[in-house]
Amino acid sequence: MQLILLGPPGAGKGTQSKLLETRYGVAQISTGDMLRAEVKAGTPIGLEAKSVMDAGRLVSDELIIRMIGERISRPDCAKGFILDGFPRTVPQAEALDLLLHKAAVDLDAVIELKVDEAALVERISGRFTCAKCGAGYHDKFKQPRVAGVCDVCGSTEFTRRADDNAETVHQRLLAYNAQTAPILPYYQAKGRLHTVDGMAAMEDVAQQIEAVLRRVGVVAAS
Ligand code: ADP
Ligand code: ADP
Ligand code: ZN
Repeated sequence: MQLILLGPPGAGKGTQSKLLETRYGVAQISTGDMLRAEVKAGTPIGLEAKSVMDAGRLVSDELIIRMIGERISRPDCAKGFILDGFPRTVPQAEALDLLLHKAAVDLDAVIELKVDEAALVERISGRFTCAKCGAGYHDKFKQPRVAGVCDVCGSTEFTRRADDNAETVHQRLLAYNAQTAPILPYYQAKGRLHTVDGMAAMEDVAQQIEAVLRRVGVVAAS
């Protein structure tokens, strides 16, 4: 399965792609997570990306395309992948087409998560993740089952992203509307675009996505 989850910051791409990763047995690839790992490790890529990410702008296409080209050639992508946060510009979408063509695979679907701007701001402001395993939580919508303890790995350490603040969120939404939204018609023209109601509860959104995948002939592994 080759799937793209598309949507503005806070739409639920990470939440849904982690669910799908388990269910369909394919790799989840988040360019945001990859970049944050580079920043944390202090690599040249991280140094280049940090100030751009902190400002809520997009990292260069060239850097991202190089990173994705390397990532999808790894063995864990042999059965397919879910792209979360990539592509984010038309040049990135075109570069992905070329990579898929070279690998002789096709996109099964591009799923757009549609969410109101006010809800996005609320979701981003309350977002936190487990520092150890990366499981996602929310102050209001998804608290750990036992307060202060990660449901998945039992860790008691959590982190909040530096760019999840009111000012940067505004800039990230502008970047989405100006640079990422134009790839919706790009995939629409290829007959790959499906839109789901991302305002629904997490489990409902997951069901809508699975319904789309069934329609395009993708079956779950479990
Ligand atoms: P969100 O899930 O909130 O949309 P991400 O974790 O996907 O945020 O991205 C965080 C930041 O990393 C972005 O604001 C941007 O600076 C950078 N980034 C991630 N993916 C890309 C990409 N495909 N192209 C350019 N910049 C990216
Ligand atoms: P993205 O990867 O698109 O930036 P996330 O998956 O990180 O978005 O979700 C943003 C925040 O909103 C997280 O704190 C997550 O727990 C929460 N969230 C995700 N989906 C929903 C939903 N359907 N309803 C309410 N909150 C949600
Ligand atoms: Zn954890």
